[in-house]
This record gives sequence, structure tokens and C-alpha cells, in this order.
Amino acid sequence: MNHDLDHVMKITLRPPIVMVEGAGSWLRDSEGRTYLDFVQGWAVNCLGHCHPVMLEALQAQARRLINCSPAYHNEVMARLASLVADSSGLDSVFLCNSGAEANEGAIKLARKWGQLHRGGAFEIVTTHGAFHGRTLATMSASGKPAFEPLFEPKVPGFRKVPLNDLDAMAAAITERTVAVMIEPIQGEAGVFPARDDYLRALRELTDERGVLLILDEIQTGIGRTGRLYAFEHVGIRPDILTLGKGLGGGVPLAALVASARASCFEPGDQGGTFNGNPLMAAVGCAVMDTVRRPEFLASVRDTGAYLVERLAALSAETGHGEVRGRGLLIALALTHGDASKVADNALDRGLLINAPRPDTLRFMPALTVSRAEVDQMIERLAPCLA
Ligand code: PLP
Repeated sequence: MNHDLDHVMKITLRPPIVMVEGAGSWLRDSEGRTYLDFVQGWAVNCLGHCHPVMLEALQAQARRLINCSPAYHNEVMARLASLVADSSGLDSVFLCNSGAEANEGAIKLARKWGQLHRGGAFEIVTTHGAFHGRTLATMSASGKPAFEPLFEPKVPGFRKVPLNDLDAMAAAITERTVAVMIEPIQGEAGVFPARDDYLRALRELTDERGVLLILDEIQTGIGRTGRLYAFEHVGIRPDILTLGKGLGGGVPLAALVASARASCFEPGDQGGTFNGNPLMAAVGCAVMDTVRRPEFLASVRDTGAYLVERLAALSAETGHGEVRGRGLLIALALTHGDASKVADNALDRGLLINAPRPDTLRFMPALTVSRAEVDQMIERLAPCLA
């Protein structure tokens, strides 16, 4: 089948295939080839492709109300806000359309809080390697080296320190600082976890110094690490939390979540045409109802442990490096070869994996992936690593 792709803006390098259908962990292209999907929209489709609970929610809500405008309350927005607030222990939820938009909102909220409560402080300390999105402010907050020369001048007000270096963080917080913003696991950088003791110390440090702690759980949230939120592993709670990706299970949905103390927007400070629209919120409710069940999260931890075990054995056999990550956000460090070539080779064998760095493969399957599918993934990957 011929597809005219000329008018699709070239914002990333894409292989010359066109996807047409998906079910669970599998995708099918326009030529009828099938792919085992361990990318899942970059950790987005937490229930896999076209999960029945999402289809039901979409169909039922589409018949009832698609958009009533953000100028009015709608019942689904309210329900999803309650689900997120109750499960996170935080208070107010602003539903939006992308992770970058949620983080942009977090930056604005922190700056507003600094104006109100910290003498106009506005700086936010982030970490080298961090990825917070692709709006101008979130690119400025990110610590991705490739972003540095792009779209100058950047939005001012971000200081960056190495991940897991508490002394550097303590030194970077001044009277101009309003918040620290961090991913519990740096996903796009190549799956580099913030240590649990570092996150606990960061919570103490931010409390002591009177600044806000913003956790970007856009990639780690909604069950990805085997708990609903990654901060649950550590026993801390942020002042501001951002969610995206898995929250919509594949539809554009994200959230800015704040404690009562941090929640200081006034009418007019934040908004957007599609915010809290019932169609997306209905899918978010269906995803949350599924993922937050204890047995679902237990199975993520179980399959995650199995994935780590199988990858570690394969790595040992093929002379590669460490396996890192948590739950079903896992990376394999390569000691030789080029990860993007391995990913290209895997694609030819009907396996979708991601290479966030030249020496790293990332695995972020559906949270519903089975052990048998993990076995099939290993079978397809093994010859690519040999
Ligand atoms: N923050 C983190 C930790 C992410 O992983 C991403 C996306 O990869 C974003 C923010 C940006 O989210 P979005 O692509 O939905 O704007």
C-alpha cells in the first residue's frame, strides 16, 4: 500500500512503515507485518493497545458528552480529579493534554507560590540529564545536552546539578530558589534512578529550606514502577506532582497535582481549551480504576522482576552490562555495539524497543505484558545482541 507521507512534518526520524492496528502488546503495519511492542508510545499505553476498558469508556462517554468547555464543571473531570487526589494524598488537580503542559503548569505554580510566599523567589533547581518536555520552559528546565544549543535564548530561572548529589543540590538552593524539580527515574536520559535515600534526603532538604518539591512522574507514574506512584517506594510525598503518559493510557491526558499548601493559582492564571474535557477524563478514570487495583500492581512488579531476570541472563550470555530500572521501566546497558543499530535490527525482526542513548536499550512494555511475551521479546532480541 502506498502512503503519501510528504506532508507529515519531519520532527523525528521514523522508519518507512505505517502502523494501522494494535491489540495488547502487538502492532500491525499496513503491509500486514506484526510487531511485539516494548515501546508502547514511550511508556504511554499502560494497558497495551486498544484495551477494552478504554474502548468502553471512550464509546460510552462519546455518546454522552465530548466537551462542555473548561468554563463549566463536568462530572468526569471531577471524578478523575478525586481519583488522583485520593490516591496521591494531594489536594488539587488540573487536567491537561500533555506532560510538557503539566510541567509548564508546575513551573508557573511554583513561581506564583514564590511570589506569594518566598519574596519573589523563582529559580527551580533541576538535574543534569533530566527531561521535562518540549515547550520552551520545559526544555529550559531539562538537562538534556542536545537541547542546550536549541531555540536560544532559553527561559531563565533554572539551575542544574548532577543527579544523586545531595551536596550539589544543597549548594544550589539559595534565597532565589522556589523549588526543586526531579524525575524519580530519569527515563529519557536512559533510565537512571534517583536513589531512594537521595529522594528522602531531598524531601527533608526542601522542607528545611522552605522550597517546594516537584516530582515529575510523567513517565514513572500510573503503575509503571510497580506502585501507582514511584514516590510510594520511597515513603515521601511531593508538594507538586505531574502526571501524563500512562494516565490516559494512550489518549492525550496529563495532570498537574498540588498539595493544599502549594495550590495557589487564582482564576485566570491557568487554563486551556481542552483542559478537563470529559472524553479524555473518562479514559483516565477507566485507566485509574484498572491500574490502582493491588493485584494489577502486584502483577507489574512480578512481570518486571521476570523481565529483569531474563534481560540479566541475556546480558551475561552476550557480554553486555547492567540492567537497571524499576517495575516495567527497564534499561539494558550495552558494553559494545550501537544501541540504535540494535533497535533497527530488532525492528526488522518484529520487535519494537527504544535506544535512548548509544549504549542503552529501554524496555517499557504495556503493564499488561505477559511472561510469554517477555520470552518472545528475549527470543527476538538475542540475535540482535549476538
Ligand atoms: N516529563 C517526563 C519525565 C517525560 O518522560 C516526558 C515525555 O517523555 C515529558 C515530561 C513530556 O511529556 P509529553 O511528551 O507528554 O509532553
